[in-house]
Amino acid sequence: MNFELLVIGTGSATPVLEHNPSAYLLTYDNEQFLIDCGEGTQFRILEYKVRSSRIRHIFISHLHGDHYFGLVGLISSWNLNQRKEDLTIYAPKELAEILTIQFKHSHTFLHFKINFVATNPNEPLLVLDNQLLSVESIPLVHRIDCCGFLFRTKAAKRKLLAEKLPENFPIPYIKMLKDGLDVEDELTGKIYKSEDYTTIGTPSRSFAYCSDTAYNEQMVSQLQDVNTIFHEATFVESELKRAEYTNHSTAIQAATIAKKANAEQLIIGHYSSRYKTLETHLTEAKQVFENTHLALEGVTYKL
Ligand SMILES: [Zn+2]
Ligand SMILES: [Zn+2]
Repeated sequence: MNFELLVIGTGSATPVLEHNPSAYLLTYDNEQFLIDCGEGTQFRILEYKVRSSRIRHIFISHLHGDHYFGLVGLISSWNLNQRKEDLTIYAPKELAEILTIQFKHSHTFLHFKINFVATNPNEPLLVLDNQLLSVESIPLVHRIDCCGFLFRTKAAKRKLLAEKLPENFPIPYIKMLKDGLDVEDELTGKIYKSEDYTTIGTPSRSFAYCSDTAYNEQMVSQLQDVNTIFHEATFVESELKRAEYTNHSTAIQAATIAKKANAEQLIIGHYSSRYKTLETHLTEAKQVFENTHLALEGVTYKL
């Protein structure tokens, strides 16, 4: 099944024409998950022809405006368009109060339900677990409470090689084979080995979103062996002091986290407005972690 990330916005707080503020759309199967919702996200969603009704989960990392100022506009537009699907928002707990007050004073009465799930900035928390995937929040180090998110798809069960089995093979036994268990036919004593009658199902894939954050090795244990990491790289190495001072990261720091976590792939973004080109970000990151990609708006990345 497709597991991919569309970059909607990967700028930072100061507005520039080259970038939109943070927003990313994760797709798995038929579900879409919006991660951060900077100003203008609804226009980019229209531009990229995203079917909004499929977005039933929104993840907000923290309450700096470049990560959520687009949310009230997006929700208000969904309401104008008679959206009916429930929405769940995973975010710092104060966001519920902010949205409630905005809707109260604009006399906005929603036609759909919003559930809020509060993230915990101090320790990892399982915030979503369904048949398709699980999501944990990742404590990040930033100037205000901030969490990333770790998405893990569920591994599919083993696939049955039905043509190899005798006719009318009992269904409970089929379930056992798919669960990786061997089956013994009590009448004949024949052993049906799971590995002979099934093939491996689609393995789990994982994606970690880490923005905004200072360099923080503590997150490495939670990110161990994750397939793809998005890690902010607001600055290049010549701006290391500024990165430390503002609780952001450099491209080399992002790459170091990916290397220590033994990730397969790194995507960097959340670029400071001071950079007109991103070549230095990419060159520096690749020195530490070769399979690094620049996040670019409008591009979809396989995860
Ligand atoms: Zn930011
Ligand atoms: Zn921030």
